[in-house]
Amino acid sequence: MIRVNGNYLKLAGNYLFSEVANRVAKYQEENPGARVIRLGIGDVTEPFGPVITGALRGAVDEMSRRGTFQGYRSDKGYEFLREKIAQHDFLSRGVAMDPEEIFISTGAKEDTANIQELFHRDTRIAVPDPVYPVYVDSNVMAGRTGGFSDGRYGGITYLDCTGENSFRPDLPDGEVDLIYLCFPNNPTGQVATKDDLKKWVDYAKTKGAVILYDAAYEAFIRDDALPHSIFEVPGAREVAIEFRSLSKTAGFTGTRLSYTIIPRELRIPGDDGGSHSLNQLWDRRQSTKFNGVAYIIQRGAEAVFTEEGRREIEATIGYYLENAAIIRRGLEKNGIEYTGGVHSPYIWLRAPGGLSSWEFFHRLLDQCQVVGTPGAGFGRCGEGFFRLTAFGSRENVIEAMERFSRLK
Ligand code: PLP
Repeated sequence: MIRVNGNYLKLAGNYLFSEVANRVAKYQEENPGARVIRLGIGDVTEPFGPVITGALRGAVDEMSRRGTFQGYRSDKGYEFLREKIAQHDFLSRGVAMDPEEIFISTGAKEDTANIQELFHRDTRIAVPDPVYPVYVDSNVMAGRTGGFSDGRYGGITYLDCTGENSFRPDLPDGEVDLIYLCFPNNPTGQVATKDDLKKWVDYAKTKGAVILYDAAYEAFIRDDALPHSIFEVPGAREVAIEFRSLSKTAGFTGTRLSYTIIPRELRIPGDDGGSHSLNQLWDRRQSTKFNGVAYIIQRGAEAVFTEEGRREIEATIGYYLENAAIIRRGLEKNGIEYTGGVHSPYIWLRAPGGLSSWEFFHRLLDQCQVVGTPGAGFGRCGEGFFRLTAFGSRENVIEAMERFSRLK
């Protein structure tokens, strides 16, 4: 008799953002006149500028002509885009990257969730806490964890991120094989220095571990001394995979385009005693399960890497960072403790008055009609914290922060 995958039954509760959406929908139903301002889910609000729009339009025109129409193509992505990424994201920061090490995809969510397929079922996972929930849930689905109890899954090593370590994970006490890191961090908004990353690269080299480095928010870094890529750290090519996305960088959350970098040097052992290239295994996986990103979208993405495109996206990122500054000032005015929001669109605040994350969620919704994300949804260490995002119109962000003064 057919049965469901029992690992799915281990998953705790709803996916965080569905839970937030359900509770907001219920509030709206009960308060139909309320104008709710959403600073919860990290979704962009600002439209494409003329450079990206022009490139998308041009590609639509190409698709309408026999000579330039495109059908199935390389699942790895068009070379015109992979070459530009190698040049503008990596070589410009002194990192040589072969376009063959770059895999174009539809999202860092998909790739960070799917990459675990390459690793042995017995792989010991380490995740920061709080953490982007996809890393954890995808491993639960794959059967790499025990059950959920007291806010955590058995079998995972959680790296506590609290005020004591400035919300940056410390090396684990025990041994782990696969480490998820994300900088600038969702949800805490923290950034890592090169020394921070070197510590992880050295650990991975010593222990034979692999680092999965999620750099979805690197474009928000404003200090040139901070690394945008883990590959700016010597030795990282042998131990790390990096995920990048145009979602927050260039407003592609709905359009979908990301890229995953797997250096050729990254090889790990298999049960057969051999040493295996993760670049080749991912290529094999993608060619079996994925048929590439739409030509039109890849042409739109290419425009991001031109000088005019870069100017266009920098203006939008600057706009969100100014929103973050408005949020920070609003919190300070109301005496609310926070971190983040400088090289990041996320502000991580301590729920005032010792409230739990969900208590504060409801208080903010009831008294201010502002939606944020309860920190507890990102892990046990997120309890008592709350995440606001700088993705929103200027007018909404200003109004939301004015409404904070209504908090009782
Ligand atoms: N990684 C992190 C840390 C994120 O916060 C998000 C989205 O919020 C993603 C990945 C997903 O990015 P994408 O839109 O490319 O799937």
